[in-house]
Amino acid sequence: MTIKAITFDIDDTLWDNAPVMARLEPAHYQWLDDQIHHAQRVPLDEYMRRRQAFSEAHPDVRGDHTEVRRRVLHQIVREQGIEEPLATQLTERAIHYMLALRHQIEPYEESEALLETLSKRYPLAVITNGNVDMRRLPLGRHFDAIFNAGELGMSKPSPKVFHAALAALGDDIRPEDAIHVGDSWAHDALAAHGAGMKAAWIDVHDQHHECPEGVYRLNHVRELPALLAQLNGDA
Ligand SMILES: [Mg+2]
Repeated sequence: MTIKAITFDIDDTLWDNAPVMARLEPAHYQWLDDQIHHAQRVPLDEYMRRRQAFSEAHPDVRGDHTEVRRRVLHQIVREQGIEEPLATQLTERAIHYMLALRHQIEPYEESEALLETLSKRYPLAVITNGNVDMRRLPLGRHFDAIFNAGELGMSKPSPKVFHAALAALGDDIRPEDAIHVGDSWAHDALAAHGAGMKAAWIDVHDQHHECPEGVYRLNHVRELPALLAQLNGDA
């Protein structure tokens, strides 16, 4: 058999996302505190708890992490006694700064060359539940289609997301001829498997789940070319 298309998760697949979030969380919250001095009343951990609660109460926006932050921040600003239109303006500036920090990522040293090489042979798509817009990053130029869950109104693990991505990559790509690459056991490996695709599961957290047929465990995305060669039966 031959692999005809590849879809990619990005966070913790093409870069280590932990340092990005560790910077982003306190930094944009501190920026807002410098403006409205709210953080003593609503500390950072309370902001994170409220986001969790908001997501659980609003399944319609749960997949859109930026929108969840926007709604919760706006509520916090209003509680501080800030009137409109200033409340919305401050919220939008905090979100703008948060998104700037969100895109300060450092890809794994292998990611650029890997995607450059793969893009010559395969149509490539991004499927992310996160709020990084790959169009804003140099790595994004290697992809033929980019799907952010928030924009689609549906997110992984829905098979619809995977099928939409494959449809965007070509008319004749059946799920079993495509492979999805990602680190989440539930949202990448099992989700792609459930959509009928093969999956390269990047086990960054050393979870060592037992893989069903068609799901292949890798330690790092740099091991992907060897797996593809094996699947393609390349000499
Ligand atoms: Mg990921």
